[in-house]
This record gives sequence, C-alpha cells and structure tokens, in this order.
Amino acid sequence: MSTETFEALARSPIRIATALPGPKAATMIAAAKEHMSPSLIHVYPLMVQRAAGCMVQDIDDNIFFDAQAGVAAAATGHCHPRIVDAMNKQAKTLVHICGTDFFYPGYGELSARLGGHADALSLAVLGKRVGWQTFLTNSGTEAVEAALKLCRFATRRTDIIAFRGGFHGRTYGSLSLTASKAKYRKHFGPLLAGVHHAPYGDAGFIEKQLFPRTVNPSDVAAIVVEPVLGEGGYIVPEAAFLQQLRAICDQHGIMLVFDEVQSGMGRTGRMFAAEHFGVVPDMFTLAKGLASGMPLGALVARKNVMTWPPGSHGSTCGGNPVCIASALATLDLLETGLVEASERVGNGFAAKLQEGLAHLPNVVEVRGLGLMLGVELSTDDEADRIAQECYARGLLVLECGDKAIRLSPPLIITESQAQMAAELFVSVVAKHA
Ligand code: PLP
Repeated sequence: MSTETFEALARSPIRIATALPGPKAATMIAAAKEHMSPSLIHVYPLMVQRAAGCMVQDIDDNIFFDAQAGVAAAATGHCHPRIVDAMNKQAKTLVHICGTDFFYPGYGELSARLGGHADALSLAVLGKRVGWQTFLTNSGTEAVEAALKLCRFATRRTDIIAFRGGFHGRTYGSLSLTASKAKYRKHFGPLLAGVHHAPYGDAGFIEKQLFPRTVNPSDVAAIVVEPVLGEGGYIVPEAAFLQQLRAICDQHGIMLVFDEVQSGMGRTGRMFAAEHFGVVPDMFTLAKGLASGMPLGALVARKNVMTWPPGSHGSTCGGNPVCIASALATLDLLETGLVEASERVGNGFAAKLQEGLAHLPNVVEVRGLGLMLGVELSTDDEADRIAQECYARGLLVLECGDKAIRLSPPLIITESQAQMAAELFVSVVAKHA
C-alpha cells in the first residue's frame, strides 16, 4: 500500500501505471464478486484503496480524477480534513443513541440550519419565513418514503403524481415514483397503487390529461419532482414548469415535494436547486452531499404540514450523531464559499466543455447548472464507450439518462482541475467523433 499523505494524493496528477484493472484489483474483484449481490452495477472494475480531495487511488496505486464524486455525494471531496476531524471528535463522544427516542445536540442544530436555508428561499420568493421542521433518515430513498407518508398523513389523500425520467430511490414507495429505467422495476411489482406519471417538463399534461381522465385532483396528496432531473439525464427544466406545478398544488391543496437528493446542497451553485426557479415547495428531500457521503438523508417540511404525532414515523439510526457531525461540517464549508465556488467553477467547466464539444457530430448538447453538468451524446453505445475510455485514461465519470454522461465532481474542484478534466473529457469524445 502506498504511504502518500492526504495532501500528496489530493495534489497528485492522474497516474495510470498498470493495465486496468491492475493485477491486485483483478484478483480481489474476482474473489469479492463471489460473495457480493449481483444486483450491484460496478460500471468499471475499480477497486478503491483510498481517496483525497478529487483524487481516487486504486489498490494497484493507479490514481484517477473523480468527476462523479461517488454519485454526487462526496460534496466536500474525499476525506476533507474538517469533515474527518468533526467525525473523529463526535465518534469519541457519542456514536449512537437513537434520535427517535432521545435528544442530542446535533439533530436540532442541523434541523435548524436546514430550515434556515429553506426559510431564506421562502423569504426571497414569498417575502416571509414560513418555518420548517426536519426528519432525518439514513438515505435518500428513506427521505422520499418519509415524504410520501407525510403527504398522505397531512392531506388524508392517497394518490401521487411523479414524472417519467425521475429517479427517487429503490424502496417500494420511492421505486413506485422512479421511472427512469424499466429495469429498476422489473419483476418487483406490484408497486404502490395510485401513482401517476407525467412527462417531465410538461405541467399541462397533469391538467389536460391526468385530472380529466385518470385521477381526481382531490385524491392527489403530492406532486413529487426533481427540480433538476438527475439520474434521468441531468436535465434543467424551464422555470415555468416548476412554477406551474406550484400553481396546480396551490389550486387543489396538493403538497409539492422537491426531491433535491441529488440537486441539493450546493450541487447546482445554489444551496437548493429550487433557488434557480423561484419556487418554494412544501417539502424538500435531501441526502447524498448533505453529509459529504456519510449515510444521512433529510425530509425538510413546512412546519404547518409536519403535523404527524409522536410515534407516527421514526428510525433507529436515522440522524446518526457521526453523520450529523459530518453534515454540520459540510454546511460550514458550503456556507463559507463552496456553494459560490460550485457556480463559479461550474460555469467555467461548462464553458470549456461547450467550447470543445459543441461542434462535434457525436455530441447533442452540453447542459446543466453549477457542478451538475450533463453531456448528451448521439447514442447509448457512444455514451458507454466514452465512459469506459474516460476510466481507462484516469477520469471517473458516470452515465445518466438514455445517452448522456454526467459530470458531478466534488464541489472543492479547483478551476485548473476543472480545466484539466474538461480537456481530458473533450479529447476522449473527439477521438470517437
Ligand atoms: N432521489 C434522487 C433524486 C436521487 O438521485 C437518488 C439517488 O440517486 C435518490 C433519491 C435515492 O437516494 P439513495 O440512493 O440515497 O437512497
């Protein structure tokens, strides 16, 4: 194993010194696969040894640039010293007691800080603070489950409207909303009853098709939407789409839920993607970057709808103190420059990608907000080939949608790293053009 320090690895250039996978990785992966669930995807044979900042070192000491941040979760980069310190300190004090049954300081502090950010949005858009309360979970999918339960509880209604292309998780409630790929649902039915899907970006479909033909608005508890589509293709909708959803919800007493598990916590250059569109939902779901990749999710809901009584919902480990310590340290970093950096560096990254890719015949579009950038390619195979070749050249990227690549690096990425990553990505795409 390498003895390079955190700093040395974080500042290292890409270094691919073996065939991929390297000999140790090949042996370990073959052995591990015998025992691991075959449902796991493993887009490429990468056996990670450690990671620092934006750099990931594999077990054979090859060093990669991480332009996907562990699926957009390592918001502050890998092993940020302030996150590690905060977690160490907390682990020596209290690891677990159960937030459903007992109080400890972090739960209330994190809830207040998330509510404060939601209130900054409501103040800007509605001219008043509406007040928010938070329920903490272990994951994004559990935050969505909590939202579904609260929406039904608060409205005493049953049905939910979601969108084609949306991804909300893999447990039964969230999976029933997920409609990005049929394979996520195959052989798992029957799913939750009363879920209706509309085309993403088309609020008119709800009023012109769903309400007259499929579901009475007075039966609808919630509209659940990603304000920027994540796994479904990194698609930024028109502001009017989300504004119309708000109007429909207001007219019919329906809860508007923004699933910001991927787009939240600075990813789009704002704390919440909602800020780009001037729309205040009734609830947010958060996870991924919330605790820099530690397992923590949140349902942040307007106080006047969080009406469920003690015992109606809970979780043994949701809101774990060590995860909360990571989230509080993550918020410190986001609030003191990282959200702003996400917008600034993201704009430069996007411009560099536009400049290098726009004229290529195999590129359909470069799009996104902040450091949530997508490149739509001509075919699914092309996206797959490009992702694999990026890996071979030391750049970790993931696919999304039908034929796009997503670039979602840690928000600590520097301008020069963004330039390097863009140049490398462009050279791979150009080679295939
Ligand atoms: N919601 C959105 C928008 C997501 O992107 C994801 C995961 O990718 C989820 C929910 C589910 O989160 P988790 O994998 O933490 O359960």
